[in-house]
Amino acid sequence: MIRYRSTRGSAVVDLPAALEQGIAPDGGLYIPESLPEFDVSDFQDANTEVEIAERFLAPFFSGTSLAGHLSSICTQTYAFPISCTQLPPTARGQRTLLELFHGPTAAFKDVGAGFLASSMAVLRDGDPDKRPVLILVATSGDTGGAVAAAFHRRPGFEVAVLYPTGRVSERQEQQLTCWGENVTAFSVKGTFDDCQRLVKAAFADADLSVRYRLSSANSINIGRLLPQAVYYAAASLRHWRANQKKLSFVIPTGNLGNGLAAVMARACGLPIGDIVFATNANTAIPDYLRSGQVEDRDSVDTLASAMDVGRPSNLERLRNLFGEAQALNKLLSAYSVSDEGIRTTIGDVFRRDGIAICPHTATAFHVYDLLPEGLRDEQDWALVATAHPAKFERIVESVTGAGIEMPRTLADLMDKPASAVSIEPSLAELSSGLERR
Ligand SMILES: *Cc1c(COP(=O)(O)O)cnc(C)c1O
Repeated sequence: MIRYRSTRGSAVVDLPAALEQGIAPDGGLYIPESLPEFDVSDFQDANTEVEIAERFLAPFFSGTSLAGHLSSICTQTYAFPISCTQLPPTARGQRTLLELFHGPTAAFKDVGAGFLASSMAVLRDGDPDKRPVLILVATSGDTGGAVAAAFHRRPGFEVAVLYPTGRVSERQEQQLTCWGENVTAFSVKGTFDDCQRLVKAAFADADLSVRYRLSSANSINIGRLLPQAVYYAAASLRHWRANQKKLSFVIPTGNLGNGLAAVMARACGLPIGDIVFATNANTAIPDYLRSGQVEDRDSVDTLASAMDVGRPSNLERLRNLFGEAQALNKLLSAYSVSDEGIRTTIGDVFRRDGIAICPHTATAFHVYDLLPEGLRDEQDWALVATAHPAKFERIVESVTGAGIEMPRTLADLMDKPASAVSIEPSLAELSSGLERR
């Protein structure tokens, strides 16, 4: 049985506890005490995402109350396609696009949110405490929609999504406010930091915890990380079977959850070659790899807004699992891309490869072009597409001059009636807003 220990030392728990707590009591993040070792042959006859997920995740679940439900959790999590499409070839080697945006809110965060929701639903069913679980989530855009979609209409769960008024795009706001029923959206007159502060205050509030069991589904939950490793496992296994070659990845990176999942999948023995992180102008990760110093800085606003993270929380996990900068430099690399680079790349890729990409995905394309030629040509690469371009149509259309068709799932959300409760950033207003719903 794999147990989960805090990066800060004291706590060791099983998977259900790690999922329910989100963050360890000592303020650290949960990481597996050991990683399973796989061989390609362990995945014989596993072809679909669901089948590959069941094998990959089995050791992480074994011995816990969730183990018997692994199959149904995987079926619910990987309910939408995750496709690898071939890009026009370069002089040597091939490039594929790993499309992680076919879920209900058109970004890869649907995978982690779906996994967390289906796992927590199982845990709640088996729990004698039948107070409703209140999922509180502060969002600057993508996370809130994914969490709302994943918990929508799940019996026993209420969701409160807190977002900063006027600071999310129109389409993102629609995805936060269109759910109704057990989901309440709070438009908070303040910043994203105010929303986060309010969530923390709610956790410390005695009245709320009489009425609800509080949970956060935040982006540092280990339940977001594990299911993300599965699509790297699946993409690399398929590539290995077809080409007998490892697959290397360029990954748009902000809080480092998606990128860390790839490093973990490779450490578990999956046929993954190089791993390269692409950041926007928030350069904490490339700076750390260069200097070995973790600097405390605020985030800067960029066109790839879902990656605007000044202090990536999962860096603590990465260092704890795989070592400090010197060791990490042997395992991976990271490059940053300016807004100018993002804009130019969206235009270049549209003209050269004939596809529209979102600003986050553009960082991966840009970094691929920057790689040393030898490295780029020797290996087969997958560029990771983290969101559908229609989600960021203002930016993308202004560069390409062409309209982007919305995927069906997104278009359906756009047509739904929406409502939000407007509040000042105070716990009293949040609390009475929850009471009135
Ligand atoms: C969240 C997000 C990212 C960054 O992922 P991390 O796991 O935080 O590194 C990149 N692109 C999109 C579209 C996102 O929503």
